[in-house]
Amino acid sequence: MADSNRFVNPYNFISLPNKKAKAYLDEDKHYGVIHYSITTKTPLFIPNSSNDNAFGCKEADHKSFDFFSYTDLSNEKNVSGKYYEPVVPGSEMRGLVRNVYETLTDSCMGVLNDDYPVKRIGAKFKPGLLHIQEDGSLSLVEAISIRIGESAKHPKEMKKFEDGDKIYFSNHEASNGRGMIRKFSKNEGAYNTCGYVIKWGLGVRKEHFHAFKASNKVVKKNMEAAAVKNMMDAIVTSYIEQPSIKSNDEDAYKSYLSSFKKFIKGDKEAYFPVNYSVVGNDIVSIAPATFSKEVSSRSLSDYAGVFTPCEEELCPACDLFGKIGDNAKGSRIRFSDMYVEKLDSNKSYYVKDFVTIDNLSSPKISNVDFYLVKPKNADFWTYDYYIERGKIHLYDGSLRGRKYYWHHHPESISFNNVKRTKLNKTIRPIKEGITFNGELYFDGISKKQLNQLIYILNTGKDGLGLKLGMGKPLGLGSVTCSVSGVEERKIVFDQDKVKYDVSSYDYSNVTYESAGLSPSVKKEFEKIAGLKSVPKQYEICYPKTSDHDKGFEWFQNNHGGRRMPDTREKMRINRALPKILENDISLPQAVNGGNSYNNNKNFKKKNGENVWKF
Ligand SMILES: [Zn+2]
Repeated sequence: MADSNRFVNPYNFISLPNKKAKAYLDEDKHYGVIHYSITTKTPLFIPNSSNDNAFGCKEADHKSFDFFSYTDLSNEKNVSGKYYEPVVPGSEMRGLVRNVYETLTDSCMGVLNDDYPVKRIGAKFKPGLLHIQEDGSLSLVEAISIRIGESAKHPKEMKKFEDGDKIYFSNHEASNGRGMIRKFSKNEGAYNTCGYVIKWGLGVRKEHFHAFKASNKVVKKNMEAAAVKNMMDAIVTSYIEQPSIKSNDEDAYKSYLSSFKKFIKGDKEAYFPVNYSVVGNDIVSIAPATFSKEVSSRSLSDYAGVFTPCEEELCPACDLFGKIGDNAKGSRIRFSDMYVEKLDSNKSYYVKDFVTIDNLSSPKISNVDFYLVKPKNADFWTYDYYIERGKIHLYDGSLRGRKYYWHHHPESISFNNVKRTKLNKTIRPIKEGITFNGELYFDGISKKQLNQLIYILNTGKDGLGLKLGMGKPLGLGSVTCSVSGVEERKIVFDQDKVKYDVSSYDYSNVTYESAGLSPSVKKEFEKIAGLKSVPKQYEICYPKTSDHDKGFEWFQNNHGGRRMPDTREKMRINRALPKILENDISLPQAVNGGNSYNNNKNFKKKNGENVWKF
């Protein structure tokens, strides 16, 4: 019976082992081909990208794609009713097999990106000025923020100023720095005091501009300009990418960022206004606004520790599949395209002519609740620090592991009428039960490597599925793989002639263990690859409190409710993602359990800034 109070998150993580494995030293070499097939267990979609509006949809900026085929659709206005023979490109299979191979051989995480995780935080940021000193070093000094103009609206003359422009003004009145600026000018010497303009209104419903006047108190010296630039880039971009952003806010962010970039390049004044917050006396967070998001101090791949993509010494996956960039290495295996087992008409391969599927959001690495290992006894944690009983502890967050998607039961996948928008897509998926055949050619690999590849391409016999193509969180792309034959080509010297002797390779005894795959990840892999691992009563979906929740309400509740606390120390996370091997892998829709930040007196609802958004 369906349990509508709980759900299973679409993805989970296979734990990382203690150490990254090294490339194998075996010297035996084998040449030949593995013949194998894949069979769809849920609908599958891989786009034919030669036309991004293949179905001629009229909605603005809405994209629509046919399934991949060898047909060039660039001149087609609408392929509705016209069906082509589907093909699974070899590159897709290569990506899938590499991913699994990395996991099962304790290799590096080949697909990590260099994003900086950004997270909304309940601490108030203070005014500061970045300062490029004469020797070129970058520091941060405290600043006094002074409002420009008396009335609620900023003075018209301020239109001439951009963020970071130097402004001269007459002494403001209050000694506590609160006063306000009535008379000001761009011209040096017009008034005796100067500061730097910050055009408030960065997502905040404020009409004032402020001048930041430098104090002589240094917050941090010798900051790394590249890191500061990456942080600011990540944080401003995350604001700009919010679907709900208003166009004037977007303009304000863009112009702030472009002025900031000029400053960091040295093309502007020596000072630039920012807001900052210090975590545990060490980490300085920089942002454009006072209530803000916080960006992690390093990029995602830095938190993967020894599992960051290989550089000098190669892991088994980089050794076999190759590696680009410095110390590049070619690949010794090649995946052919996969051809469909023929049915009587092209139409019969597809679920429908076309369907519109829900918005496929990109991975939210800022969801620390799910992406990071929970430090023991922590009430709240981020990539750089955790809170335990009201105290901040600095540490390096550890990634939960390698991301895998649970398999959906095919009957739970339906294509309901989804309204077309610029965020979602219209596609033509293949239906379940369709088989494709193809080859993997190997060229000088060891018996161990060959057996490992055979194991992965033959996991269907153990009831395990792999995930291919688009729409994985929605349940698309579950396939089983099956090997139908392996041929080995040996070079034999017949007197003076070189001959190839082709014989069939016996793979009937290849098992997980005999192929030398990692013992530490076996159980987790077998569970998450299991086609029937998720109990049927649970819906597999992104966290939500109800069907009306578009995703952020659940996370908001998981952090204690709508109101943000006024300091980091009061932040908390109620529920972490269950581990793959836990008996109950589901989460409740209701997570707040009365834990809310209602005692926060400084909560400012009207500017809308201290409310969680993901
Ligand atoms: Zn590697």
